[in-house]
Amino acid sequence: MTYLPTADHDELRAMVRELADERIAPRAAEIDERAEFPWDLKELLAQQDLLGTCFEERHGGTALDTIAQSILVEEIARADATTSLIPIVQKLGALPILLAGSDEQKDRFIPRLASGEWLIAFALTEAAAGSDVASNRMRAIRNGNHYVLNGSKRFITHGSVAKLLTVFALTDPDTGGRKGMSAFVVETDTPGFAAPRIEHKMGIRGSPTAELTFDDVQVPEANRLGADGDGFKIAMATLDRSRLSIAAQAVGIAQGALDAAVAYAADRKQFGERVVDFQGIQWMLADMASQTEAARQLTYAAAARVDALASDLPYWTSSAKLVAGDIAMKVTSDAVQVLGGYGYITEYPVERMMRDAKITQLYEGTQQIQRLIVARQLLQRAGVASRG
Ligand SMILES: Cc1cc2nc3c(=O)[nH]c(=O)nc-3n(C[C@H](O)[C@H](O)[C@H](O)COP(=O)(O)OP(=O)(O)OC[C@H]3O[C@@H](n4cnc5c(N)ncnc54)[C@H](O)[C@@H]3O)c2cc1C
Repeated sequence: MTYLPTADHDELRAMVRELADERIAPRAAEIDERAEFPWDLKELLAQQDLLGTCFEERHGGTALDTIAQSILVEEIARADATTSLIPIVQKLGALPILLAGSDEQKDRFIPRLASGEWLIAFALTEAAAGSDVASNRMRAIRNGNHYVLNGSKRFITHGSVAKLLTVFALTDPDTGGRKGMSAFVVETDTPGFAAPRIEHKMGIRGSPTAELTFDDVQVPEANRLGADGDGFKIAMATLDRSRLSIAAQAVGIAQGALDAAVAYAADRKQFGERVVDFQGIQWMLADMASQTEAARQLTYAAAARVDALASDLPYWTSSAKLVAGDIAMKVTSDAVQVLGGYGYITEYPVERMMRDAKITQLYEGTQQIQRLIVARQLLQRAGVASRG
């Protein structure tokens, strides 16, 4: 299977890099310091048609392939991880509709997501149900042609700024999360919905991470995605694809830190020499560069499998997220080291990048959960029974 980037991919990268260098990077420190959602950059991305890349043209999208979508995220994250979450979460929230929605639901919801008029969030995690998604407690009890949603969600990216949510709730609490959970599209102006709390975070600080509460929220049956009980399946199919965006985000953060480290080391002098001329520093830069490239190529290899609908795509997307997240953490930490004490202060971007990198090891399944997925597929391939 080939996955080499094409001339179109290179053109997209050059276009997004210029936009990110000129318009996004100069805002990154301020977004981090103020922990404010960058509405101006959301508008910029919408105007440039960069929020519709995962949607079909008939819905107003640009239908780019998954390598192109990865390049988009990578180049924005190279400048600012918070802003890269705008296209990432637009896709994450919409995937349940794309994967399980009817034509009528797609026609109703997707065009205004593709244009960027509406934002969407993906509401799966609960306070007591993180990695163990099936232990969710939120309920959706049917009442005539409506469902009544009660409960709360935790850690929902963009939950306080989105117009739409894809929400997972138990329609059959006795059966439990795996078979008794269903997926819904909820409009956030529905009475009974609130986003009462925003978390204070280490990184991606401009991206609001919200607690959501649902108090007798009435959702029409027409907003249920798939059949009753399909929720767990839809959530897993979504994450199998969406976590590749996190791999791309991690690659972008690592590349941003590497570029900042090279620029600084070429300028800074100690012992009468440029820091970049010390072999000890060159070896660090070489490791950072080759590891970032390895993560990038694995991400593109996984992206090609997503487009080919490969049966083992979870193996690829989880491997990519696992490798890229760990490399982003290491490369950003090494970048701080290359800058010495200056790496530790907010005047330079690498300390922010190191804080931002950490989240790529945590959300859309922690690194431990990625290892479980990879191991399960590995053992399946090898024909070895496992209890996982
Ligand atoms: C900033 C941020 C944004 C987020 N955005 C969203 C979002 O938009 N939508 C959404 O639904 N969720 C979101 N999340 C939730 C995120 O996906 C969860 O935090 C994550 O899946 C881990 O769940 P947890 O925090 O409850 O940790 P836990 O599941 O409690 O895990 C605690 C520790 O135990 C480990 N662990 C758990 N199970 C196993 C196991 N079987 N084997 C080995 N180790 C294990 C974990 O790896 C971790 O180290 C977000 C979280 C954060 C912090």
